[in-house]
Amino acid sequence: MAQSEQRSIVIIGGGIIGCTSAYYLTHHPSFDASQAKLIILEASAHGAAQGASGKAGGLVARWAYPQPLVDVSFNEHVRLAERHNGAERWGWRFVGCGSWEGRAEEVPEPVPGAGGSEVQGEATVGRRKSLEKTIGLESQPHRKTRKRATGLPDDLTWMEEDLTDAYSPMAPPGDTAQVHPYKFTTSMLALAQEKGAEFIRGRATRILSERGRVTGIAYTEPSTQQEQQLPATHVILAAGAWAPMLLPGLPIAGTRAHSITIHPPPHLLPIAPYALFTDIALPPSSGSLSRRTRHGVPHATPEFYARPGPEGEVYACGPGDDAPLPAGGVDEVEVDQRACEEVWRQVRAVSRVLRAGNVQARQACYLPVVQGRRQGPIIGEAKERARGLIVAAGHTCWGICNAPGTGRAIAELVMEGEIKCADLRSLQPGLFI
Ligand SMILES: Cc1cc2nc3c(=O)[nH]c(=O)nc-3n(C[C@H](O)[C@H](O)[C@H](O)COP(=O)(O)OP(=O)(O)OC[C@H]3O[C@@H](n4cnc5c(N)ncnc54)[C@H](O)[C@@H]3O)c2cc1C
Repeated sequence: MAQSEQRSIVIIGGGIIGCTSAYYLTHHPSFDASQAKLIILEASAHGAAQGASGKAGGLVARWAYPQPLVDVSFNEHVRLAERHNGAERWGWRFVGCGSWEGRAEEVPEPVPGAGGSEVQGEATVGRRKSLEKTIGLESQPHRKTRKRATGLPDDLTWMEEDLTDAYSPMAPPGDTAQVHPYKFTTSMLALAQEKGAEFIRGRATRILSERGRVTGIAYTEPSTQQEQQLPATHVILAAGAWAPMLLPGLPIAGTRAHSITIHPPPHLLPIAPYALFTDIALPPSSGSLSRRTRHGVPHATPEFYARPGPEGEVYACGPGDDAPLPAGGVDEVEVDQRACEEVWRQVRAVSRVLRAGNVQARQACYLPVVQGRRQGPIIGEAKERARGLIVAAGHTCWGICNAPGTGRAIAELVMEGEIKCADLRSLQPGLFI
């Protein structure tokens, strides 16, 4: 479309990708709120960031993938944090990142109501899946500097020296950072709204097109359940794992993962800033709680992320499973309390500091995973289906990290007609659908 024509943009999905795209669009030098219209349509009754974008760990890493997108995204994270006081607003900070190997100790079950849980039994989560975050590290020379002694950093006092077999840093200082994903996403939305973006509730049901060009979307208005339409010159599909429901053939599936957040007792604060990829040898009594075994010993590999804030917080997540994606959307995601309990049991078994804490959140969400041999995410105009239809989905385990690069690329595509910040041709939708 000609640069001078009026743009009417609808973003489907109020997760981190939709909200960050809205931020970059509204902050683009050519965006004029008096001329253009930008709507973010979100299906959840509870607002933005109710899916993976509010329940992720929040790691931001130079060693994430795919590299061209990471290179833009990491620098943009730094810039956004400087420009909008991300340290205060969304918990931006650099963190140490390490691989921790060690043993679990036998821990008595907590007293019900004392920060513990009464949930018994094993999670029925089917096949375990790795979230595959560390793939990007395979080629990192730094990884070869692994220490043989425990190597536990002095300030990492929330993990036990006597239970540690080995600790090794996974990336050089300055290469790993974090955000609080819910706070980041809702901040991006608020900053976009300040510049004229509109957030509305409703479930998109169809993408409308005529003569090979997008004309709008149809959606269900939540209070009346009536179908409404929104006209659009550009539709940005940022619906995470649900994206294929609106664009059949898009090779994206959902992998469910559970996580918990723990508040340590105040007298044990502060919690040193580390993200840990653990490998825990569990006591034999934990049986098949972990389906991974090595030399007959069950192992678990939860990830732990310390977060800043006056109350301190540690986020811990377990593996993915293959529970089917609920067609009704994020508000219908089922939390298997036993899967959360399993993560909490693993935390308690390796950290006496955290064992004394309280579990605040027990949650589950769906990672949008690109299927097949091509590595996602999928970013670009799906012109084979309709001009003006732009896909921004399939961010797998790195959507928090890669949201700013994605948002910037989408803004360039809509406002300037092409992606200029990086060579993302290998991510264009035509190669996937
Ligand atoms: C356990 C776990 C830990 C993770 N940790 C990290 C991490 O440390 N670092 C990192 O970079 N990434 C991490 N990720 C990955 C990251 O969370 C995702 O890649 C990212 O959140 C995807 O964002 P999204 O906006 O595409 O999808 P979502 O967050 O799922 O948002 C999609 C939105 O679209 C809405 N929607 C869907 N269909 C419709 C419709 N028809 N109409 C209107 N709205 C609709 C949904 O309600 C939802 O709000 C993690 C993921 C998991 C599961």
